[in-house]
Amino acid sequence: MGVVTQGHNQCLECCIVEKGIGMEASASSSIRDSRYSHLHDPIYHSLDLVPNWFIYGHLTLERHLQCSEKERLDKFKMLIRDVSKRFAGRRDLNSLGWFLREEGNFADKRFHFHFSLTSDELERTTPEVVCRYIGKQWMKIAKSTAKVEPWDKSKGSLGRWYLTQLEQYRVKPSRFYNGGEDCRWKMSTSLFTKIKKLTTERNSQ
Ligand SMILES: [Zn+2]
Repeated sequence: MGVVTQGHNQCLECCIVEKGIGMEASASSSIRDSRYSHLHDPIYHSLDLVPNWFIYGHLTLERHLQCSEKERLDKFKMLIRDVSKRFAGRRDLNSLGWFLREEGNFADKRFHFHFSLTSDELERTTPEVVCRYIGKQWMKIAKSTAKVEPWDKSKGSLGRWYLTQLEQYRVKPSRFYNGGEDCRWKMSTSLFTKIKKLTTERNSQ
């Protein structure tokens, strides 16, 4: 489950999730793994400020369901609205704090998502319950598998790096995503607002 690409084309992040590469260093300290420092978008530094990451997930998309960029993103939005409805009581894309990154190209790497949720609006449940629900919903929505886990605090900064890892190739500019030429990411307005507040607080200290 969760194998999206094979061999040398497998993305660093998938590789880390599946094989546990780099876990040793991250569990014993919060020192960043500089081996990958050139592979990350600057947005990483903002995510680093967020204290309440809750879950982390990898959403696959089967080969025949790769669709268009918009259709893929719509599937993710539907998933988030479902999670919001189930746990926060309203079908609102922006009530939850989410960060999303799409990886893949049409050439050698299948499109897939990596995402993370904060605990905002999810305080009344547990990460395990949310993970199970997302796995079930993603199967309904995208007919594909999801690997979703409670946020591992021992990953520290290294965990957040996974979220903003750059691609090994240029990606086309997109009207749906932010990011430079090597990364496509998106976040909810509530997470953006939260980061803005945290940045202001930090700068005024
Ligand atoms: Zn990946």
